[in-house]
Amino acid sequence: MTLGDRLDRLVNLDIGARGIEHLHAAARARSGAALSMAAAERLAAVPEGAVVLATTGSVSRAWISAEIGENDGPAGLATICRALALARRAIPVVVAEAALLPGIGEILRAAGLALVTLEEARRTAMPGGRLAVAVLHPYPLEDEAARAAAGPLLDRLAPALAFSTERVGRNARGVYHNMRGVDFGMGRARIDHLFDAALARGIPSVAVGDGGNEIGMGLVAAAVAEHIPFGARCACGCGGGLGAITGTDVLMTAAVSNWGCTAIAAAFASLERNPALLHTPELEARLLLRGTEVGLINSVDGIVDPNVDGIPLATHQAVVELCRQLVLAELAR
Ligand SMILES: [Zn+2]
Repeated sequence: MTLGDRLDRLVNLDIGARGIEHLHAAARARSGAALSMAAAERLAAVPEGAVVLATTGSVSRAWISAEIGENDGPAGLATICRALALARRAIPVVVAEAALLPGIGEILRAAGLALVTLEEARRTAMPGGRLAVAVLHPYPLEDEAARAAAGPLLDRLAPALAFSTERVGRNARGVYHNMRGVDFGMGRARIDHLFDAALARGIPSVAVGDGGNEIGMGLVAAAVAEHIPFGARCACGCGGGLGAITGTDVLMTAAVSNWGCTAIAAAFASLERNPALLHTPELEARLLLRGTEVGLINSVDGIVDPNVDGIPLATHQAVVELCRQLVLAELAR
């Protein structure tokens, strides 16, 4: 078994018994290669100093408030942005709801990235200007405005890669569902339209998800319908299932989306033979505890704490450490 398959296996351990192993099997069969390594190859192909279009963030209690974000997503995205900044001086432009961006920005900052404008980010290419940065960019909440904004934004950014983690996409009826099959599209930025536009332009893409309702899951739509509760028929009455229709080049499934990002960063560190790109248990704790300070919620237990998806912080750190040791052992051989 390859390192990539070991990483895939580790982070697809179905601790929440949500059916993720079925989605992994479908994505792995389609890919013909380990998902973590296929995703890492897309990261490795990013040119020095290039822009990466990145997205995460879920208003998981949208019907209560569209300003409450969840803690799966931002930490994983920060891990990927950090690795791309260190390895490629990449400029991640992180797109989400204006209401969620400040919190996501704090997680990126806790991962070591300075928050700057795009114009400022371009100056990091000047001699002696090395600086790990990220740019925050709000995206429209309405379908029509979201579709209209996609082309001009892609023109302006010319991203080398589009990366999504734990970012919900619409189903075939245009509705955004949570894992209980409930419509929670209110106050939600329509970033799946931006991702669709990036795909249509042939921009390489990686998407991470753990439930079937995220951007990228369009690749394994049949498996979502068959194996995920509400996958074939939601609870909102729209007549569809919760599966997102938006696809991606590489889909990374994981029991927790943050774990998928950890595995991709690990595979990337292995490809680059650079242990500095590995996520660490210490940083995982720092990111998830920072999340509590900015009010990100554990969406399974419905409380602000660092236990992403109802899983204790120490377990998240353990998964990070196992990924890390798999790579360090390989690099030592
Ligand atoms: Zn529905």
